[in-house]
Amino acid sequence: MALNREYHSAVKSLLLQGATGSIGRSTLAVVREKSKRFRIAGIAAGSDLRGLLEIAAEFHVSSVALHDDAQAGELTAAAKQLGIDRVYVGPRALQEQVAAEYYDLLVNAVMGGAGLRTTMSALERGKSVALANKEALVAAGPLLMKTARAHGAAILPVDSEHSALYQCLLGERADSVRRLWLTSSGGPFWGMPWDSLDDVSVERALAHPTWKMGPKITIDSATLFNKGLEVIEAERLFGVDASRIRVLVHRQSVVHSMVEFVDGSFKAQLSVPDMRLPILFALTYPERATSDLVRTEFDRSFSLTFEPLTNELFPCLALAYAALAQGGTAPAALSAADEIAVPAFLRGEISFTAIARVIERVLARWTPRPLVDLETVEDADRMAREMATEEVQRVRSRASMKCC
Ligand code: NDP
Ligand code: MG
Repeated sequence: MALNREYHSAVKSLLLQGATGSIGRSTLAVVREKSKRFRIAGIAAGSDLRGLLEIAAEFHVSSVALHDDAQAGELTAAAKQLGIDRVYVGPRALQEQVAAEYYDLLVNAVMGGAGLRTTMSALERGKSVALANKEALVAAGPLLMKTARAHGAAILPVDSEHSALYQCLLGERADSVRRLWLTSSGGPFWGMPWDSLDDVSVERALAHPTWKMGPKITIDSATLFNKGLEVIEAERLFGVDASRIRVLVHRQSVVHSMVEFVDGSFKAQLSVPDMRLPILFALTYPERATSDLVRTEFDRSFSLTFEPLTNELFPCLALAYAALAQGGTAPAALSAADEIAVPAFLRGEISFTAIARVIERVLARWTPRPLVDLETVEDADRMAREMATEEVQRVRSRASMKCC
């Protein structure tokens, strides 16, 4: 057995974007435990200035970035007080930070399409990326994977299912793999007919049975759209055709995913559900670090259950397979449409089931173009958001006609 080489490792500098969010804070918990191995060189957030400054002070970071330029003056003044002179503000702030700062690994924990350019910029610099931001892979996976290969950089998945698959595939040949099995908790509405979910409240949809996450991914988990994004993410990361990627409902979220091999054997990765574990793996790869953060105890009885999942029950999952089949810019349109539909639901403007209707309408209107470059992806993103906004309006006016 190889000796634990932990104390031989040099300190790794991290650029943590999305530091104030759920994944960002779990990453900080890992760094607190492993403070000798990691240094937070820079951090970034969307608009949570106070959260950003608290983290900056605790971790003595060298640079800060904030998307919201309305708070530019306040950020610059507060950063100066903390002795930080490298400050980036505005819509291009995160990308400029990625392009200019010194770091070994970008941890991309930003929510949504905002994480695309930054991932690409880091890869173009030959920097590896610990990627939680699944939307970037969904929209532009082939471009990102190609850039990573060209620059010798790694994309290390943080998403628990993909971290599990990555770990199960280590040391295996591509032609030994029969199928990838993504597990899903089923979300709060598993077992209920989709048609009965029209009136569910935001609070109920936000009550995830096993994971604590940011609001957008929590709603995506309730519609199973998240699992759809994860199917596309797996197709991109592992180069396995969608017909060989299956989803299975596993309510306990202990088996994080499985690989089925051609000889009929399966490998799975297990732990209690806690994002600090896949984050730790991505940060320390190719080593495994000793850690007490996440312990799975087998000193009491518990059961693991698996149930087949049918796409018809949760249309958002079927829509993701459909977008993959359409190809080109269709997955980018799918993801962008969801980024409009979910906030509309959270604001109370459309019903829970209308999220699927909005995405479906956008895909039905969509003519995919080949994924040539990031501009193609960004054009698709813009156009799909416009279409989705129209569809939200259409759903709202239909709903108001019904009630009056
Ligand atoms: P949160 O909503 O908790 O956090 C999002 C982070 O992104 C915050 O730091 C937020 O800043 C920042 N952000 C949002 N918009 C922008 C923007 N336009 N520019 C710059 N920063 C921005 O999300 P999660 O942590 O739950 O999820 C982050 C990503 O990780 C998502 O892609 C999600 O799908 C993925 N993921 C999450 C998992 C989880 O367990 N949470 C599991 C697997 C994947 P601010 O606080 O200022 O708004
Ligand atoms: Mg996941």
